[in-house]
Amino acid sequence: METILTIENLDKRYGSVHAVKNVSFEIKKGNVYGILGPNGSGKSTTLGIILNVVNKTSGSYKWFDGKLDTHHALKKVGAIIERPNFYPYLTAEENLKLVCKIKDIHYDKVKEKLEVVGLLERKDSKFRTFSLGMKQRLAIASALLNDPEILILDEPTNGLDPQGIRQIRDIIKFIAANGTTILLASHLLDEVEKVCSHVVVLRKGEILYTGTVDGIISNEGFFELQSENNSALKLVLEKIDAVEKIDEEDGKLFVYLKAPLEASALNQHLFQNNIVLNHLVKRKHSLEEQFLQLTSNR
Ligand code: ADP
Ligand code: MG
Repeated sequence: METILTIENLDKRYGSVHAVKNVSFEIKKGNVYGILGPNGSGKSTTLGIILNVVNKTSGSYKWFDGKLDTHHALKKVGAIIERPNFYPYLTAEENLKLVCKIKDIHYDKVKEKLEVVGLLERKDSKFRTFSLGMKQRLAIASALLNDPEILILDEPTNGLDPQGIRQIRDIIKFIAANGTTILLASHLLDEVEKVCSHVVVLRKGEILYTGTVDGIISNEGFFELQSENNSALKLVLEKIDAVEKIDEEDGKLFVYLKAPLEASALNQHLFQNNIVLNHLVKRKHSLEEQFLQLTSNR
């Protein structure tokens, strides 16, 4: 798979604030990436660095195959990292035509991209009459005018009402389905869960997890177990390679996994070791529980 962006050991300090700590990850063509983390975790700083508007302290990043300098590489990137700003008294179409003029893009693109974001019917309305959601959609259309390889969005649904949030998420999914790589920063788990295929979880500038969204959900499945003799059960469990950690609560053992283990295989293994269970449930954390666990104090 083609690599769009490689980030290696990126570090950023604002004076005494260590905003980004030794962050490394890769973005491959065609995937939808979420940078997920609470406020202040370094998401916007990371995006600012790769878009060349924030200076890094150390580390490196490389766009595409690294043969283009950042300035030229960024011509193949569409990004919205600030509140959308257009001329209030110009129409949607006029605003986008102006962007075309500046970036030397054919005017044909204006209607095409207004269509993508569902604003074609409102092309003659002045920007100042737009709702926040419409403004955000116009910003997305604007970022798409040059048919970028990758679209970068910082908290794309912040401040929007539920309908506006849904529209933006549907548009992002549509753009992704048409082959554009996407990188979005969000503090919302369900947003990442709904929209992204891959996730980088940040906490206080540090990466806690990178990988697929499915992976974060399945990675740490766990069992709830109970038998007549929990201490004997525990002894057997402790010898299983796939077991990461065992907690006991209310007479049940919570068995956290670091490798896949099916309930049937576990049950059989325990039975062979003379353990009869009277309770066995396999659970998978939602991304939300995972995230809360990852970002809780540790
Ligand atoms: P996020 O986007 O995840 O909310 P930021 O990247 O905006 O996080 O911020 C990360 C940390 O860096 C925070 O502690 C924030 O206060 C600090 N920070 C961000 N921008 C600046 C700046 N221009 N000057 C000083 N500190 C900053
Ligand atoms: Mg931010």
